[in-house]
Amino acid sequence: MQTFQFKSNLSPVDAGRREALLEAPGFGRVFTDHIATIQYSEECGWHNAKIGPREPFSLDPATLVFHYAQEIYEGMKAYRMPDGGGALFRPDANARRFRNSAERLAMPALPDNLFIESVRELVRVDRAWIPSTAGSALYLRPFMIATEVVLGVKPSSEYLYCVVATPVGPYFKGGSVTLWISENFSRAAPGGTGEAKCGGNYAASLAAQAEAIQQGCEQVVFLDAIERRWVEELGGMNVFFVFDDGSLQTPPLTGTILPGITRASLITLACDMGLTVREEPYGIDQWEADAKSGRLLEAFACGTAAVVTPIGKVKGRRHGFTVGNGGMGPVTARLKSVLLGIQNGCAPDHHGWLDRLF
Ligand SMILES: *Cc1c(COP(=O)(O)O)cnc(C)c1O
Repeated sequence: MQTFQFKSNLSPVDAGRREALLEAPGFGRVFTDHIATIQYSEECGWHNAKIGPREPFSLDPATLVFHYAQEIYEGMKAYRMPDGGGALFRPDANARRFRNSAERLAMPALPDNLFIESVRELVRVDRAWIPSTAGSALYLRPFMIATEVVLGVKPSSEYLYCVVATPVGPYFKGGSVTLWISENFSRAAPGGTGEAKCGGNYAASLAAQAEAIQQGCEQVVFLDAIERRWVEELGGMNVFFVFDDGSLQTPPLTGTILPGITRASLITLACDMGLTVREEPYGIDQWEADAKSGRLLEAFACGTAAVVTPIGKVKGRRHGFTVGNGGMGPVTARLKSVLLGIQNGCAPDHHGWLDRLF
């Protein structure tokens, strides 16, 4: 096991300023004092694991990642515990997904223990940055970039892995989100990179997201690329539907949907509550019909950043409807509070999901 060499930031943000920033951090605009980095080369494998001051990189303009987007990332949070301690939520699941993303992008696998240790070490060093206000957390962004300097198209022979940390408040300000149904753009296709967490997927979704904003909506809901009929997910969140018989449904993981850890956790928690959860395709026309007939009572989006956010209105060129009363339904509220209870250390952690750091 590698040990992380530690170099302290000699000019950290002063405590008073940090406390002020933690009051209302926004999302991903304020960063902690340190960064974790590990290098990879074909000759040495993973080496030079470090926690050091957060500072700009210097990279050659011909570095591969700038040209062919060989990049992957993760998103996870460290939570403040009621006794003042800190904990991660299911970091082993992020480590596994990071390895799967690496494989799809022809990048070297970072061993799970090295991934988890890098995040733990960074959070321990920057522990003062974990906010304690309700709905806030320290968001962690592990990522890996191709750093070989060459313009030939091929997998890089060198990589840089990093973790940066940013205190965050709630991702969405309002109570629920309004969705725009993208008819012209796809997020992912069979055989593509939809189930890998890579920056390229987001680059490809931005034009659709811009269209959504232009149409007065906050987020895009993507349909499958072949039939343009089956609901897949939002640009960065999975979706769930709640029916009048108390059952839940979410699209199955068939390769074009990102396997969310929030999604998986909510399926487990819903089953614990005795609810039926189906992982089955759901058509956009059916969604509209069910919302209008009252068979569908609630719908919500979920992810590490968004946690659990109700879907209020859905619009498209051929569609327009409201789900339930457009606000947070009781099943959505219950699932959200059970999940947050575990993450914030306020409810019993029956599945052993919390990784207590200090
Ligand atoms: C990260 C992500 C999600 C949510 O995954 P979580 O592990 O729950 O945070 C959903 N969809 C996409 C496209 C994502 O990138």
